Amino acid sequence: MDTMDRAALIRAGDRRALARAITLVESARPDHRAEALALLDALRAPRREALRIGLSGTPGVGKSTFIETFGLMLTRQGLRVAVLAVDPSSARSGGSILGDKTRMDRLSREPCAFIRPSPSQSQLGGVARRTREAVALCEAAGFDVVLIETVGVGQSETVVAELSDLFLLLLAPAGGDELQGVKRGIMEMADLILVNKADGELKPAALRTVADYAGALQLLRRRPQDPPGFPRALPVSALADEGLAQAWQDMQTLVAWRKEQGHWDRTRAAQARHWFEEEVRQGLLAALSREPQKGLMASLGDRVAEGQLTPEAAAAEMLRLLGRAP
Ligand code: GDP
Repeated sequence: MDTMDRAALIRAGDRRALARAITLVESARPDHRAEALALLDALRAPRREALRIGLSGTPGVGKSTFIETFGLMLTRQGLRVAVLAVDPSSARSGGSILGDKTRMDRLSREPCAFIRPSPSQSQLGGVARRTREAVALCEAAGFDVVLIETVGVGQSETVVAELSDLFLLLLAPAGGDELQGVKRGIMEMADLILVNKADGELKPAALRTVADYAGALQLLRRRPQDPPGFPRALPVSALADEGLAQAWQDMQTLVAWRKEQGHWDRTRAAQARHWFEEEVRQGLLAALSREPQKGLMASLGDRVAEGQLTPEAAAAEMLRLLGRAP
C-alpha cells in the first residue's frame, strides 16, 4: 500500500491502519524509517489537534485505574480517547506499563478508545521518538484526547512533559506529613496534582496530602502559562469515580486560558523546535556508533590512551571530521 492510501485510512479513523503505522514508527529498520517519515509528512497537513495529557505516577498509585475511569468518562461524552505509554526499560519493575492485557479492560472494549501497549525494551531517546510519532499519528487519526502514561522515574517525566499540553501527577495519600520525595522539578512540571485513593479509610490521609501539596505549590513561582489558582492539587478516587469530573473541568479551564493567552501555540511551537533539535542530537550520537565514525573514534581514542594526543585535541579532530561527514 502506498503512503497516500495509508494516510487516507488513518485520517478516516481506521484503527488497524493506525496500529500498523505505530508499529512502523517503532521499527528500527532503515527502509521502515523512510516509510515512517513519508507517512508522517503526508499526515502533517491539514493539521488536527488532540488534547495531549501526560500522566505520571509511581507503580501502584492507580494510573491504569485512573486512565480507565477517566477514559470512560470522556468516551461517554462522545470524545475519542487514545492511550499511549512512555516506558523506559530502566523503569521496568515487574509488569510493563500498559503491557498487561487485563489492564483497562473496559476502556479497551470501547469503540471510541484506542490503547497501545508499550513496545519492548529500547532506550529513552528511542522511546521518546516513537511515542512522539505515535502521538502525531493519533492526532491525525482524529482522537480528541491522547493520554500519555509514564512511571515516575525522573527522566521520563521530562520527555512526557515535552510531548503533552497538560501534565498530571498522580500521587497516593501519604502516611506521614512528608511530601513523598516528589522532586521539585517534577512538581514544577505538574499542571494538576491528583491525590488518588481519596475514598474509604484513605480519605482523611488523601485530604491531608492535598493540603500539603496545595501549600507546597503556593511556594512555587507563578508560571506565565497558568491562570490564578493553578497549578493545583485535588483529591480523586479513580476507583469510585470521584473528583474526575472536577479534574476534567480544571483541565479545560487551563486549556481555554492558555489558548486565549497564546501559550498553547507558543508551547507547541517550542516543543516542535525541541524535538527537531533532539532528533539532530540523537542522529549525531547514532552516527558515532556507525562506520566510519566508529572506527575513527576508536583510533583517536587509542592515540589519546597512548598519550600521543590530548583528549581535547582528539575531540576537536573528531568534530572536524564529523562536520565533513556526508
Ligand atoms: P498503577 O500501577 O499506577 O497503574 O496502579 P493500578 O491502577 O494498577 O492500581 C494499583 C492498586 O490500587 C490496585 O489494586 C487498584 O485497585 C488500587 N486503586 C487504584 N485506584 C484506587 C482508588 O481510587 N482507590 C482505592 N482505594 N484503590 C485504588
